Amino acid sequence: MPHLNHLTNMQQTSVPVVIIGAGPAGAGTSIYLSQAGIPHVIIEKETFPRDKVCGDAISGKSAFVLRKANPLWLQEVYQQPENYTPAKGILFVAPNGKPLSIPWGDKLKAGELAPGFTSPRLVFDNFLFQKIDRRFATVYQNSTVKNIEQHADGVRVIFEKDQQTYTINASVIVGADGDKSIVRKTFLNGHSSSKAYAGGLRAYYKGVRDLDKTNFIELHFLPEVLPGYFWIFPLPNGMANVGVGAPSEQIRQKKINLREQMLKAIEKNPTISCRFQDAELIGKIQGWGLPMGIKRQPVSGDHFILAGDAASIIDPFTGEGIGNALYSGMLAADAIQQALKAKRFDASFFGQNYDDVLYRRLGDELRISAALQRLCRYPWLFNFVVNKAHKSPSLSKTISCMFTDMDVRNQLRKPSFYAKILLNK
Ligand SMILES: Cc1cc2nc3c(=O)[nH]c(=O)nc-3n(C[C@H](O)[C@H](O)[C@H](O)COP(=O)(O)OP(=O)(O)OC[C@H]3O[C@@H](n4cnc5c(N)ncnc54)[C@H](O)[C@@H]3O)c2cc1C
Repeated sequence: MPHLNHLTNMQQTSVPVVIIGAGPAGAGTSIYLSQAGIPHVIIEKETFPRDKVCGDAISGKSAFVLRKANPLWLQEVYQQPENYTPAKGILFVAPNGKPLSIPWGDKLKAGELAPGFTSPRLVFDNFLFQKIDRRFATVYQNSTVKNIEQHADGVRVIFEKDQQTYTINASVIVGADGDKSIVRKTFLNGHSSSKAYAGGLRAYYKGVRDLDKTNFIELHFLPEVLPGYFWIFPLPNGMANVGVGAPSEQIRQKKINLREQMLKAIEKNPTISCRFQDAELIGKIQGWGLPMGIKRQPVSGDHFILAGDAASIIDPFTGEGIGNALYSGMLAADAIQQALKAKRFDASFFGQNYDDVLYRRLGDELRISAALQRLCRYPWLFNFVVNKAHKSPSLSKTISCMFTDMDVRNQLRKPSFYAKILLNK
């Protein structure tokens, strides 16, 4: 058995808060804890800058959380075209190959070039990591949490760094440790459902032709992977993030080989292959899981809170998880601030001050997206809506609004919406 040591600066010290993971959820929690003046420790397995398999599309929700933390940060982003590409909209390609361009709203704040942007996670996550305020955060990188024990007054976290084992006590632990969260496994084992899981592959290509001039991100709803999709997201320096993702249930039922389908689209699909004639694959095709927010699940308990992928809150329709990770980190910091004031770290307190708040803000959106994802299983319905939208500017506009307006998005899941289109109303 390895010997348990203590990091010298932690001897006999209990910190109020330990965050596991320094991705968007962990960095977001830390940034907002620091703004409230709350000291905390972050334990991170990797060393930054670190990569994360992702589509690299960063939405308006991420922009909102960054802007709220510090309005200058977004301006900093938009001043670095070599690292960040402003994205002005989305191109849907229906299963029949018909495209539908949907610009995102254009009410921009001063100094901001677009509602969202793309950036390799190697760059963006490092940007967030640099924003962690070391006056309040003590960060241990290259440190892996191996075990978490609950005791009457809090939690004991056991982690390894440089083949040494260390322990640290805290009143509350934030599980921001991604899709294979040890915090989730320790406290909520048995709560995950395979229905709420998706799988995705990502590759970087140089030289993909005919990318949109204002960097629309492209979702191609190929019949072979529905309700999943193939994507092409323009990145800085002539690069593109190319990938494919689908719910695990469909992958299993239809025996979809994502890698084969991705390469087949690049080599043979009539609307896609011509654009890859001179393109070069940079690095490897890599896979990762997406824990999606299909239905409400507990995201906290006695002495713990889950944020980001550990809380399983990726949007099931768009696959967006960075915005929800940052947003949940912001809400986790707020709940912890209240817990420290009230000296309450129990499940009931966090249930009211974190779970209820998180689902009040994100619940409707996740429910609607789950319903839209179910509708995407029907290629004929998709083709029908896109065909009609081509002929009807008002329908096009309605679909465009669904990205910012939840009432509009809600319309899309009702049968009456499709009946009205059919009747040309
Ligand atoms: C193929 C694919 C494409 C995607 N595309 C998009 C997209 O285009 N846009 C979008 O918004 N979202 C996308 N997502 C989702 C997005 O990547 C995640 O939702 C997001 O990374 C969640 O952030 P997080 O901070 O919760 O977790 P992560 O980013 O995974 O960070 C978790 C951190 O915890 C650390 N960690 C894990 N275990 C331990 C441990 N035991 N001890 C210490 N540290 C630990 C890890 O090293 C990591 O740094 C995609 C996901 C996939 C798989």
